[in-house]
Amino acid sequence: MECGCGGALIEGKSCYSVSRGNFYLLLEDIPAFQCTRCGRVLFTEETVERIKKIENRLERDASEVATGKPSVHLYDY
Ligand SMILES: [Zn+2]
Repeated sequence: MECGCGGALIEGKSCYSVSRGNFYLLLEDIPAFQCTRCGRVLFTEETVERIKKIENRLERDASEVATGKPSVHLYDY
């Protein structure tokens, strides 16, 4: 794996947050790589897949509840 700028990547942890119409999701301590040249944070394909699954599940749950208030979810990855 390599950054688009060609810089070297170092392994570390990051967090990811996403805000949709009816929920806000914050994931902490996700394994991630950071580019030492441009500082961009990259996730592996496996991590991206996992985030997507959590998002999809929350989207389903949130639409069923429909309280009119956005729900906040905090997950430890
Ligand atoms: Zn870079």
